[in-house]
Amino acid sequence: MDQLLTPTELAVAGERMHRLIADVYPICRSITGDGIRQTLRRLREQVPLEIHEVPTGTQVFDWTVPMEWNIRDAWVKNSADEKVIDFRRSNLHVVNYSVPVRRKMSLAELREHLHTLPDRPDWVPYRTSYYQENWGFCLAANELARLQEGEYEVCIDSTLEHGSLTYGEYYLPGRRTDEVLLSCHACHPSLCNDNLSGVALVATIAELLSNVTLEYSYRFLFIPGTIGSIAWLAQNELQASRIRHGLVVACIGDSGKFHYKRSRRGNAEIDRAVVHALKYSGEEFEVRDFSPYGYDERQFCSPGFNLAVGSLTRTPHGQFPEYHTSADNLDFVAPQALAGSLAIYLSVLRILDNNACFHNLNPKCEPQLGTRGLYRALGGMADAGQFEMAMLWVLNLSDGDHSLLDIAERADLPFNLILRSAQTLADQQLLGRVSPTAI
Ligand SMILES: [Zn+2]
Repeated sequence: MDQLLTPTELAVAGERMHRLIADVYPICRSITGDGIRQTLRRLREQVPLEIHEVPTGTQVFDWTVPMEWNIRDAWVKNSADEKVIDFRRSNLHVVNYSVPVRRKMSLAELREHLHTLPDRPDWVPYRTSYYQENWGFCLAANELARLQEGEYEVCIDSTLEHGSLTYGEYYLPGRRTDEVLLSCHACHPSLCNDNLSGVALVATIAELLSNVTLEYSYRFLFIPGTIGSIAWLAQNELQASRIRHGLVVACIGDSGKFHYKRSRRGNAEIDRAVVHALKYSGEEFEVRDFSPYGYDERQFCSPGFNLAVGSLTRTPHGQFPEYHTSADNLDFVAPQALAGSLAIYLSVLRILDNNACFHNLNPKCEPQLGTRGLYRALGGMADAGQFEMAMLWVLNLSDGDHSLLDIAERADLPFNLILRSAQTLADQQLLGRVSPTAI
């Protein structure tokens, strides 16, 4: 895999990701139902993913696949027959997974079911009630303040029935059966950074990698949060055992700095590859240790699996004011930020896919690089050039035990330079690759 894009290609990809987000933004998604199906069908225009259905009631470890939720309409009307809350204006207005309701009530009774954000009086919050039968509406605090005393008619035209949980999966075979996993949640309704930015990025990477020769096999999951990863792991334990490296992808469309949350293992190759890629990217970033709170890395890193899966985001969930509100909208995610995130992800995958161990085939003293045209012709200069330094490090540490990433870290040089120097030395028959199975 040698998949790095030019700045122009990245900019085009950023715009395209933003268009994809805009396309699926209006759909009312949830952890089950037609919203996620419709979203996956749209993604299929770019990636030939398989759509899987796991029936309601299926036991997945300690969890049970819930009833399928669908919604056609929802509103609240005042006594003048005016819709004062309308699902058709924004699907965030309905508490996700609300049970059906159709009746009249006083403002006091209605208030028990209304959710606002008093600190952000113009924003509509996003609320869910997946595992407890409930109903409710979300609205701006300013809109609530305008509601007069009186009788209100409430309608939630939803269904909660036996059906299934839907997820999308795309598998790209490489030379090895060992896998790299990229997973994103696709269960939030009209929210852009938390959810759709990850969906667009994973779809774009899947598309790009489908055109190149890959060392690893790659698996891309578009799943509902929590229950989706639990269902996938419960039904795919054999595949899970092949995952060598993975990332949970979310919140990568805002303009904040990058945050990498390490895997539970803490110093797995994925953790080192991400930190290395960020270090040489010129981007601002922060690295955090694993904690059992967050996205689906919680499931992939549960002790029974303990997979090397971290999470690379920009501003982490819950740490931007727009999180889980109507302000996480199309203006909050920028094509340029999406493009920058794509660049980092591709650098990480390039490190993983090219990382290998080599043997120095001329280990007794240094080979004569000058006669092979690999060393500057004139002696006496104080410093070796960076490429020459990279070759010397690769020759010195290629004892079959040190990977190119080990060497890059120890030499404090970018992986790309170490990789290029290793390729040059291998072309000169000075290095031999250790087969992956022998590592
Ligand atoms: Zn969320």
